[in-house]
Amino acid sequence: MEESATSSVKLRDRALEVLRSVFGYDGFRHEQAAIIERVASGGDALVLMPTGGGKSLCYQIPALLRDGMGVVVSPLIALMKDQVDALRQAGVRAAYLNSTLTAFQAADVERDMRDGALDLLYVAPERLVAPRCLELLSRCKLALFAIDEAHCVSQWGHDFRPEYLKLQILHERFPGVPRIALTATADRPTRSDIIERLSLGGAAVFAASFDRPNIRYHVVAKTSSKTQLINFLEAEHPADAGIVYCLSRRKVEEVAEWLCAKGRVALPYHAGLDAAIRERNQDRFLKEEAVIVVATVAFGMGIDKPNVRFVAHLDLPKNVEAYYQETGRAGRDGLAANAFMTYGMSDLGTLLGFIDESDLEERQRRIERHKLSALLGYCETVTCRRKVLLGYFGENYDRACGNCDNCLHPPQVFDGVVMAQKALSAVHRTGERFGAGYLVDVLRGQLTDRMRQSGHHRLKTFGVGSDLEPKQWHSVFRQLVAQGHLEVDVEGHGGLKFGETGWAALRGEVPFVFRAKERSAGRRGGLRNDAAPGPAGSSAKDPLFQALRSLRSELAREQNVPPYVIFHDATLMEMVRRKPADLTAMSRVPGVGRRKLDRYGAIFVAAIAKLVT
Ligand code: ADP
Ligand code: ZN
Repeated sequence: MEESATSSVKLRDRALEVLRSVFGYDGFRHEQAAIIERVASGGDALVLMPTGGGKSLCYQIPALLRDGMGVVVSPLIALMKDQVDALRQAGVRAAYLNSTLTAFQAADVERDMRDGALDLLYVAPERLVAPRCLELLSRCKLALFAIDEAHCVSQWGHDFRPEYLKLQILHERFPGVPRIALTATADRPTRSDIIERLSLGGAAVFAASFDRPNIRYHVVAKTSSKTQLINFLEAEHPADAGIVYCLSRRKVEEVAEWLCAKGRVALPYHAGLDAAIRERNQDRFLKEEAVIVVATVAFGMGIDKPNVRFVAHLDLPKNVEAYYQETGRAGRDGLAANAFMTYGMSDLGTLLGFIDESDLEERQRRIERHKLSALLGYCETVTCRRKVLLGYFGENYDRACGNCDNCLHPPQVFDGVVMAQKALSAVHRTGERFGAGYLVDVLRGQLTDRMRQSGHHRLKTFGVGSDLEPKQWHSVFRQLVAQGHLEVDVEGHGGLKFGETGWAALRGEVPFVFRAKERSAGRRGGLRNDAAPGPAGSSAKDPLFQALRSLRSELAREQNVPPYVIFHDATLMEMVRRKPADLTAMSRVPGVGRRKLDRYGAIFVAAIAKLVT
């Protein structure tokens, strides 16, 4: 007992020593220390942590602490090279095996494997389970298996990969080697699928909070999404890298072109583009500073560029899970970042159409529609957005975050029972067939030709809502849909019909408040995210930061690696703050490990000295 207690203390010390000397960080985050201890001492683990939470160290450090080579399974072939480059920069002996290597290159890696010359090996799942690879591994000393993006084993999620099911074999073939499965997908069905399908019944489960405190959420009703985007970018991100999501390929192209015309470097990315173009655009996003990618959902999985400063949705995403995953690509480095969205009722129609045209079973379609209205509920909420998001994932967040639009500028609300009754009555009396546009005309008493033809100008409801602007009525309808009182009728022509609680609401039995007026985005400067220090605040404009950033780019270009594998933005900002004058001071900057100190310390000290005098 005593012995195991001392050895556990020793293990912790050794883990901390590796964290400091190799990665240059001072302390562990969240449950990293416990996870590392578990795996380094030979146990299995399932790790649920949000994007940017720090999952990689959870297997990288145990692999360095244990004898032999750690094997990392990842579906993201395109990104293995970056991960390996980053590790090599830190002095870790890492390599990857996948279909992008030539036979010669693969043979080199295999030789290193046999010689015990690797600490970490990244492998694509289909490659790993091939008999040849398993055979080779059985002749190597293995430290652990890390199964990254472990939700790919689940059919529930959207990233299902059949080859992940075969990873079961690792447990059978190598029973003594600890396994750690990691994912940023948190829901229960996925979690139990991972445990069952990978035989991880004995694994310790580590579930971190899914909060991303450095991301600031803003959601605004769509007026003109392009103008709203540029206002937001000008106010918040004049020279930052980010991702803009749109629903259609055509819009992706259009917005990318438009941003270029506005002087930004913006590149399109969608499944309809040539693979070579897609790859080039992704590469530029990773390797250059301040590139904006405009994309459909085809872009982003596994993008682990740490300094994505914003993610903007110009249309509604598919559901809250997708939204959280997509926005989670911002601010992985922990510095301030923005998640911005514009949305409208027409997006809802488009997405409902997608669900309808899909080949899903009816039950699944109903779930998808439900998820979509939960997302609309998030958009329309007048309370703290973080609370709603985390609540959706089953986490109880019992305060207001102070870092979302609703917390920063509480929306004006008013008692909307009467307004809701008017709107619902218009829906009912016109036969639950019409869309919001027409219904607003009825409420506001617009005597259009269509109105005369239908005879709806004779209804009692006609003109009872002339006191509100069309924009406000549209918002009322969205909020009624968000709260489930109305539903979009997809079988019909996308008209609005009563939802489950529609009648109760019409009778005035359901209390609710309405958002009084839409804020205009960006313009007032009130949305600026400077709660956390970061390039979204003021330091991006600091000349020293700029200078260090270009020095970093230059070094990265010489080696053909992304700049952030040399130093992260957070590390550069610490250099700007501390202005280290010698190597000892430089070694204390978080993110400067031993190897990077040797390689780049002097160059950066000199650059700082030159600019500071
Ligand atoms: P995930 O894989 O969970 O999305 P990463 O492993 O890429 O996250 O880590 C996100 C970022 O946080 C990286 O930039 C990483 O270097 C940094 N990081 C992780 N753990 C620590 C730590 N203990 N101290 C400081 N930075 C950390
Ligand atoms: Zn909030």
